[in-house]
Amino acid sequence: MKIGILGLGLIGGSLGYDLRSQGYHVLGVTRRRSTCERAIALGIVDAASVDMNLLATAEVVFICTPIALIIPQLQQLMNYLPLTTVITDVGSVKTPIVQAIAPLWKNFVGGHPMAGTTDSGVEAAQRDLFLNKPYVLTPDATTPQTAISVLEKIVRSLGANLYFCSPQEHDQAVSLISHLPVMVSAALIASAMNETDPQVLQLAQNLASSGFRDTSRVGGGNPELGVMMAQYNRQALLSSLQQYRQNIDELTNLIQQENWAALELKLQSTAQARPNFVE
Ligand code: NAP
Repeated sequence: MKIGILGLGLIGGSLGYDLRSQGYHVLGVTRRRSTCERAIALGIVDAASVDMNLLATAEVVFICTPIALIIPQLQQLMNYLPLTTVITDVGSVKTPIVQAIAPLWKNFVGGHPMAGTTDSGVEAAQRDLFLNKPYVLTPDATTPQTAISVLEKIVRSLGANLYFCSPQEHDQAVSLISHLPVMVSAALIASAMNETDPQVLQLAQNLASSGFRDTSRVGGGNPELGVMMAQYNRQALLSSLQQYRQNIDELTNLIQQENWAALELKLQSTAQARPNFVE
């Protein structure tokens, strides 16, 4: 089977490695010629071009461009593909993408591999990136079962753990476990930066160790990604932030009231719940 990948960066390139190793014939289209040459040299694709026409014979196409380009790129890509081509994307937010593309392309299934690194570009691509990682598909009521089955087989061949849900459920869930943590972690760093006593601030910087490293990691990441999350998943993120604020208020009240027993109960419940999210 021929599979097309549009956008040969971290995710598109990593898909290329694994799909080729599963015996698929991989065709890559990306913005820069230098990336095409590099992708061929690295063994990510069988053929690459900056011309979308290369994807005309692909039975399935993965759109792996930055999220803001997914819809405009699909609108261009449509002119090159037969209606039977199954198209999917890997964007980290699903509702706006599925809502825009589903009416335009019948055989479209939204997708999101929950795998990545902080690096980007074709050089960041790696083998087995999706192995044992969640991979979400978000078909809606109109998505043809044949398109879902084709993608299901491909995703399972990557060794990923496949989940199905609606685009809205996906966006609410990732806002809780991915987008909210970025904002909370950013607020944590900002709070530490607000210390007005320069000596205390310097001391805090000197003493910061593994606890601060863990809790500040996602807030100290790529600002563009954080803005993208807020922009494309605004409603779900606002609702998650509201829930977070309620919890901060509750903890603040318990401490103000010196209600140590209730605080302990709260912390016991969070300690018990954490393994349900992370092993
Ligand atoms: P990335 O490493 O920056 O790769 C995106 C690639 O798209 C770039 O390398 C660029 O290739 C290419 N590109 C840019 N404009 C293009 C255009 N107009 N036409 C064709 N190709 C174009 O980004 P990424 O991390 O792989 O993210 C790609 C998608 O995956 C995003 O939608 C993101 O939401 C999603 N995602 C990311 C992660 C993550 O952790 N990073 C995880 C899951 C999903 P050139 O070198 O040719 O310019």
